[in-house]
Amino acid sequence: MSQDLVRFLHARLDEEADLARRCDGDDCGEWTAHGHTVDFCQGELPGFHPTIALHVALHDPSRVLREVQAKRRVLARHALSPATGDPELPWDNRDDCQYDGETWPCDDLLDLASPYADHPDYPRRP
Ligand SMILES: [Zn+2]
Repeated sequence: MSQDLVRFLHARLDEEADLARRCDGDDCGEWTAHGHTVDFCQGELPGFHPTIALHVALHDPSRVLREVQAKRRVLARHALSPATGDPELPWDNRDDCQYDGETWPCDDLLDLASPYADHPDYPRRP
């Protein structure tokens, strides 16, 4: 799996950021819900169940972009520390995470990837 999971996660984050930007995520303002209506800053759309309106507003593009940035920082921290294969360093004979020392890929990376488990490109363990 090595870096496949990291490449996969970056690709998903790129897609989410691109979609958010295409919704004017950088400058549009905040999406809000008012009862059955979602205000998308450039117009309002009525007809939602109030709970669904709140859920849609939660996907405000600016918030999505902040979430993508936060996930990229987590990815950067949990970088691969490859095994050296040095017999003098038996504790370093496995790929692990440089941040937490867990076996690669660490639980934090697997948790970041878990929402995309049904994606056709999701890397499967050999
Ligand atoms: Zn880690």
